[in-house]
Amino acid sequence: MAAPQWSLAIHGGAGAMTPETLTPEEQARYEAALGLALDAGTRVLAEGGLALDAVEAAVTALEDDPLFNAGRGAVFTYAGAIEHDAAIMDGSTRDAGAIAGVGQVRHPVRLARAVMEHSPHVFLAGQGAEEFAAEQDIAAVDPAWFATPERRRQLEEFKARKGAWFDSDIKYGTVGAVARDSHGNLAAATSTGGLTGKRWNRIGDSPVIGAGTYADNRSGAVSATGAGELFIRVGVAHEICARMRLTGAGLQDAADAVLAEVAALGGKGGVIVAAPDGATAFAFTTPGMHRARADGAGLREIAIFGPRSGA
Ligand code: ASP
Repeated sequence: MAAPQWSLAIHGGAGAMTPETLTPEEQARYEAALGLALDAGTRVLAEGGLALDAVEAAVTALEDDPLFNAGRGAVFTYAGAIEHDAAIMDGSTRDAGAIAGVGQVRHPVRLARAVMEHSPHVFLAGQGAEEFAAEQDIAAVDPAWFATPERRRQLEEFKARKGAWFDSDIKYGTVGAVARDSHGNLAAATSTGGLTGKRWNRIGDSPVIGAGTYADNRSGAVSATGAGELFIRVGVAHEICARMRLTGAGLQDAADAVLAEVAALGGKGGVIVAAPDGATAFAFTTPGMHRARADGAGLREIAIFGPRSGA
């Protein structure tokens, strides 16, 4: 089979979604939203554009959709605030940018890219990141833009379940994308509101380069979703890429093995992976993961439920 010239895979979070918990209408809404984001990234790649621009286009589309826990529709902190985390990485240079705890930037992934391209740093957080965003003319919105009634309800539910800090059955909803462009470059991006009810400026894996997001043209591109603390401890995204580069493991085997490590430590979640030859794969240990992919050879897939791994 000829290798696809370009490929793109996206996710809208791993979680407890099953055909029993999602109505057909909800399923259709998620699938439509995933399709729009997939098409936004696909347009870039089909015109010969860069993987970096494609992952940004796909993630900004998902950030604008209130269904997902990123940008508009992000979950609330315990105090009722919004704290976005995001990262982007260019596999051709291994340049990377990330932000955490930002509450007013409409597209957190764009701010992450600005950190990568217009600052000498990789990772900015909180007030400083907001100041940098203003200097860079990154579009800001009133925090009310991000708020949805469903996320308020989830915060109330979280508070009512006293002591339950971490519920592995929650619908995560983080978003991400990985791509391989027709020039052979890989890129990855991830964006999230983190966990409902998070406190103390908690930061998950999504913006941590090597944990939730990683890209290296020599090995692969990965975006993760799931129980962030465990993904940080395992260094999931880098670990998958390292296995592919150093042991010659295929992308599916590497993804499955590293998620098994996370599971052994008590965490669930999922990943999307792109390989240097343009192959893509997904893997997850939750019942479902919002996901989609397309490539230059005509593949176009959108799925939410199992099977839990597939190349
Ligand atoms: N990984 C994210 C975090 O821990 C959550 C998610 O994937 O939805 O912040």
